[in-house]
Amino acid sequence: MNDFHTLGYRLRLTGRLRLETGLRVGSGLTDEISGTDIAVIKDDQRRPYIPGSSFKGALRAHIERLVRLVEPGTPGHGRGACNPVNRSEWCITSEQMDALRQNPETLDDQVYQLSCRVCRVFGSPWLASRVLVKDLLLAEPELWFERRYQLRHGVGIDRDSETASRGLLYDYEVVPAGTEFKWEIVIENANREEAQDGLVIWGLREFANGRVQLGGGRSRGLGWVRLFFDEAEEVDATDRNALLEYLQTGKGRPVDRDAVLARAATFARMLATREE
Ligand SMILES: [Zn+2]
Repeated sequence: MNDFHTLGYRLRLTGRLRLETGLRVGSGLTDEISGTDIAVIKDDQRRPYIPGSSFKGALRAHIERLVRLVEPGTPGHGRGACNPVNRSEWCITSEQMDALRQNPETLDDQVYQLSCRVCRVFGSPWLASRVLVKDLLLAEPELWFERRYQLRHGVGIDRDSETASRGLLYDYEVVPAGTEFKWEIVIENANREEAQDGLVIWGLREFANGRVQLGGGRSRGLGWVRLFFDEAEEVDATDRNALLEYLQTGKGRPVDRDAVLARAATFARMLATREE
């Protein structure tokens, strides 16, 4: 089960992320509570980029919400989605982990068995992630100076009087609509029987359908994005010919877009028809 140390199977996906509305710059300082909060950071030339870890967190949070809808109940044993934000709601708590460590020989298998569907793919404090997300850089950095940040004005609400008060006015920066970022995601050693690659693509498809909002200011319509798939390639090291080809060329075999999207459908079907 624990096959992270071998090359195994690797799927690499690339594409673009276009801002349909402005994306608020900053991290953490948001007036809304949501798992899809995302950091937008400036590089040393003040150009915006989205850290891969931040995008991965938003993708994971969106997948968790969808999985919980279809598989409610106690998460674990390859089902459902636990809550990574709250230690007491992890699919394997620290206390359970202490007990599992009493048997080092079976530890890896036990951790995998007990983990929920999402932790098995995105990782947990006890399990390595199979999903690697690179930082999302501007697709056309040379055009950035024509775009630039837009300054917006916000009004803080006074908690006691529930009215806008003069002292709570603040400014914030927004990356303008139309800006495009490049993304690259590698899924390593996905268990195809569990359609683990399909789970990730299923989440990305939501971004492609424009159903996800990122960052702060969502109630003001900020943060709508649309994702586009460009290329996909795979390296299947369990296929000797494919491995030799990869070792010679350094490139995987191209996978067409429809085949990639079909894996999301495979996952969705599996989720819908699984036994109770
Ligand atoms: Zn979990």
